[in-house]
Amino acid sequence: MIFTVRYSGADDSLKHIYEDAMGELGKFFEFDWNENRPHVYIVEDIRVRDALWRKSVPKYVVGWTKGVDVFILNKEVAAKVSKWRNGQVDVEYRRLLKHELVHVFTKVYTGIFDRVVEPDWLWEGLAIYLSGQNNNGDADAGGGRVFENFLDHYSADNSGVVYEESGRAVEFLVENFGKRKLLTLLKKLKEVHSEREFAKVFEDVYGFELAYEIFRDLK
Ligand SMILES: [Zn+2]
Repeated sequence: MIFTVRYSGADDSLKHIYEDAMGELGKFFEFDWNENRPHVYIVEDIRVRDALWRKSVPKYVVGWTKGVDVFILNKEVAAKVSKWRNGQVDVEYRRLLKHELVHVFTKVYTGIFDRVVEPDWLWEGLAIYLSGQNNNGDADAGGGRVFENFLDHYSADNSGVVYEESGRAVEFLVENFGKRKLLTLLKKLKEVHSEREFAKVFEDVYGFELAYEIFRDLK
């Protein structure tokens, strides 16, 4: 497959959104990303998306990362795919870009590039929480507050269900136990290679067992 790539220029309105997000995420992750910063590729439509992936991907996929670069669907297409309400499109699109930027910050922060970052609920939950998608009122991306399935999503399964609770779960961890513990947990992910190892590391950092009860009791 051959693709034509065009430079959008520095005046593109997304550039401001990008700079704001990079600044905010730099503060959260506590590093200034000044060199080799992420490129953002705007993908024209779903046909191009599937061609880039060499397969048809789940319909709801509107953004992804490759290395430290970010790919997002064009705003109108993303709005249609995600069924964003009129009047919410700009804010949701900003959150989408930030969501993908959280993923690349997470890769750099954890130092994990040769495999997917697990657990998937933490990977997605962090991106949902930090991008503000917990506030989008959409059950597909963080609206859930029940805490009964996110722990099933240690590995990515492409079902989309991971988005239901994971944003709230990460928000819960940060608001109740602080950012420092979460960053400590992320730093340790590089040595984690199984769900069992993760449970152990989680308990070391937080001082309690990773289970739904604590999320339900304290919220
Ligand atoms: Zn994501």
